Amino acid sequence: MDTTAFSGLQRSFQESIKTAQKVLIGIGEEFNERFEKIGRFPKLASALNEVDANPALAWTVPFLEKLYLEQAGDDSRTEAYRRLYELVKDKDYFIITTCIDGHIQRAGFDSERIVAPCGSYELLQCRAGCCGKLYPAQDFMRPVRQAVMDGAGLACLVQPVCPECGAPLVFNNIVSAESYDEAGYRPQWEQYTRWLQLTLNRELCIAELGVGMGLPNMIRWPFEKIAFYNQKSSFFRVNGSIWQMTEELKNKGISIGMDAVDFLRGCR
Ligand SMILES: [Zn+2]
Repeated sequence: MDTTAFSGLQRSFQESIKTAQKVLIGIGEEFNERFEKIGRFPKLASALNEVDANPALAWTVPFLEKLYLEQAGDDSRTEAYRRLYELVKDKDYFIITTCIDGHIQRAGFDSERIVAPCGSYELLQCRAGCCGKLYPAQDFMRPVRQAVMDGAGLACLVQPVCPECGAPLVFNNIVSAESYDEAGYRPQWEQYTRWLQLTLNRELCIAELGVGMGLPNMIRWPFEKIAFYNQKSSFFRVNGSIWQMTEELKNKGISIGMDAVDFLRGCR
């Protein structure tokens, strides 16, 4: 890819953040962890082989994913998040992300300024959704970590269950939990909507970064609406595959047809 063609856009993106009073950031699919580098972690890879050989251990897979997330890092995505952090750290910003991998938390952002409506690997919930209680996942990770790292094997692990009804506990995110309990992100969602109200009539820079059409009513459509109604806003849509702008925002929005991770890494 001829990245020099994008350097002007990267400059105007950074300039727009610099001059804005508020910065609204949406992070989407292009930032999702793809669990591709499992080969780098031989102990995790052999634990997954154990699951393949014994389907009764399938419940451990999300716990192994969490282990992976704790260890995998420092790649292009992390670098992109760090660049973004450098751009906004002194601004009044808010981030909404559909990612559940938690990588963004490592870059230095204020967690009070992030909402992750699709959940995370930080909390567990009852699979049956009986009681609406959430449990810190960390409490259950120690035995899993030990079984994998010591090579003791997964068969010795006991699946955590809901103290109320005995159903298995699953991660509180849209991938792991069939009846996903939204209580996990509610408080941050309220913060987010309060913050949004304060952007009315302010110079707002809207950055939609790598957001696809998977869950358009979470970021893509609301951002278009905000950009349309806020006369003082600027709107950047960065996406490697679907960067097109709607008719209403044609004269206002800036479409950038580049993978958002690569785009941010080029901002300096
Ligand atoms: Zn329960």
